[in-house]
Amino acid sequence: MCNIAQTILINKLNMKQKITLLGTGTCQLQKHRTSSSILVQLEDLLFVYDLGRGTTQRLAELEIKQDDLQHIVVSHFHPDHVSDLVPFLHASCWSQIDPRSKNLHIYGPVGLEEQMGRILNLFGAGGLERDSFKVQLHEIHDTHFAIGKHSFSFINLPPVNNSGLKFEVNGKVYAFTGDSDFHEKEIAFLDGVDFAVIDAGHPMDEQIVDLATKTQVPTIVLSHLYRETDENEIRQKANQAGYKGDLIVGSDLMSFDL
Ligand SMILES: [Zn+2]
Repeated sequence: MCNIAQTILINKLNMKQKITLLGTGTCQLQKHRTSSSILVQLEDLLFVYDLGRGTTQRLAELEIKQDDLQHIVVSHFHPDHVSDLVPFLHASCWSQIDPRSKNLHIYGPVGLEEQMGRILNLFGAGGLERDSFKVQLHEIHDTHFAIGKHSFSFINLPPVNNSGLKFEVNGKVYAFTGDSDFHEKEIAFLDGVDFAVIDAGHPMDEQIVDLATKTQVPTIVLSHLYRETDENEIRQKANQAGYKGDLIVGSDLMSFDL
């Protein structure tokens, strides 16, 4: 799980505790936006939330090695959130410059074992699995799970059996919605949150403004972008509606210190 080697690595590289948006796009093929993924670097834990198309290349750009990343949390099983599990696992097995030696833990909602069974068998025996490491699946049947000393809320947000992730670091609460429409469950999910990365592709701008105003989350980062949102315009609309915080239009590799 979270081991001393990982802590040493983060210290050695002088990494701050931070959140990095690896991918802020969707299924759309765009040169400036890969699909969904968020990298979280804590003192003693490094994990990603989703691993959509193109985001393993972002990991390479950040020089995150296979064994650095031992935990992947999956929000749901749409391709724009999980498709880079295939190149990631393929590289785990067959890369000649960075083969994996440590086990990989994958966490996800009900259906994880079935879906991962399909993915792991996609290319037959040995395609995406080798004896040098194990893929350990953690299907979450509850609303909480833990990785080492860190606990996470894992809350279903309609409409696509998607689970939002929420956790606390240094007294601040962070939340990622994955895919979510705008609804009462999303408002409740963001209650008391200090920093959120939200799906801003499915809700309309007016709904994002409504969400910001109702939740008053101090920092809301817009991701999973189907359309290019004008940051100044949406900030102005939100402020006029009574939102006191900051709305930020996310971009790939944008990072935030924790
Ligand atoms: Zn999506």
